Amino acid sequence: MAQPSPRIIITTHHKPDADALGSSLGLYNFLKEMGIASTVVSPTDYGDFLNWMPGETTVINFEREEAKATQLVQEADFIFCLDFNALKRINKLGDIVREAKCKKVMIDHHLEPEGFANYALWTTQVSSTCELIYQFIDILGETDKITKDIASCLYAGIMTDTGGFRHSSTYPSTHQATAALIEKGAEPNKIVEAIYDNYSESRMRFIGYCLNDKMQILREYNTALICVTAEELKQFEIITGDSEGLVNYGLSIKGIKLSVIIIDRTVARKMSFRAKGNFPANEFARKYFNGGGHFSAAGGESQDTIEATELKFKQALADYKTLLA
Ligand code: 5GP
Ligand code: MN
Repeated sequence: MAQPSPRIIITTHHKPDADALGSSLGLYNFLKEMGIASTVVSPTDYGDFLNWMPGETTVINFEREEAKATQLVQEADFIFCLDFNALKRINKLGDIVREAKCKKVMIDHHLEPEGFANYALWTTQVSSTCELIYQFIDILGETDKITKDIASCLYAGIMTDTGGFRHSSTYPSTHQATAALIEKGAEPNKIVEAIYDNYSESRMRFIGYCLNDKMQILREYNTALICVTAEELKQFEIITGDSEGLVNYGLSIKGIKLSVIIIDRTVARKMSFRAKGNFPANEFARKYFNGGGHFSAAGGESQDTIEATELKFKQALADYKTLLA
């Protein structure tokens, strides 16, 4: 008698980026190739620049279909948790995953896993979760099953998480994996275009406004800071995905070692940190702003007003003056 198919859920962190959604849909498309059905559940919505990914129309947004998503997670036999390692990163869905009786598999590259999973493919010495999905398929001896769809999803996450193969997380294995994915049909120019040349006019005007009118250069700390109010988000009709990458601009300025953006998302002031050199962005985010992340790319949040958050940030910088000088 044929075994019933396992019910598989794939989930990833809130406001998924190209690595989060690319690894989820890369795995979804791979399982499909293996004859195994699965469902991707995203805790929230995500930017339009990811809509091209094969399988994207099947993704269930937990915020929009909470009852259905909850039932799927509760009835799952396996839950794959991709590109995050702490359940608070998937908001309300976190408790439902925690309480689910099934086996949980974490595939991730962030520091300090919380340890909720039964199985883990985890290392920080890798470019991205998409590269880990490639390794996962390789470990299974199934790279011949990689189709153009799978390759395209995985290429997208590797390319974006390494900042276009520029960050220190770009290893020989990264280029070996992307070379293999290109051989399988991923088209780098088309993927770059789909992700980076698909923004709204309002996003471009918003970036211009932020760089021209809002960016502060704190020379004493070699730091660039942009604070965005809730009114400004409304004025520029900023939607999910529109502020993606804005924090990186500050780091392009000669001598700048830390670039920070504080955005008033109404429920909280969300912060992004990007650093160069010895500044531990994740430690800083953890210590002052209830956050964390990678050594040079981290995030956090604050419940204070945007003005108070800005002030607290500037005061905290003083503790790191020698590292930033
Ligand atoms: P981003 O600035 O792109 O939102 O986040 C950069 C990195 O910081 C992400 O890879 C993520 O791991 C981490 N991160 C962002 N926000 C938070 C947060 O609130 N808490 C923790 N622990 N990590 C965060
Ligand atoms: Mn990632």
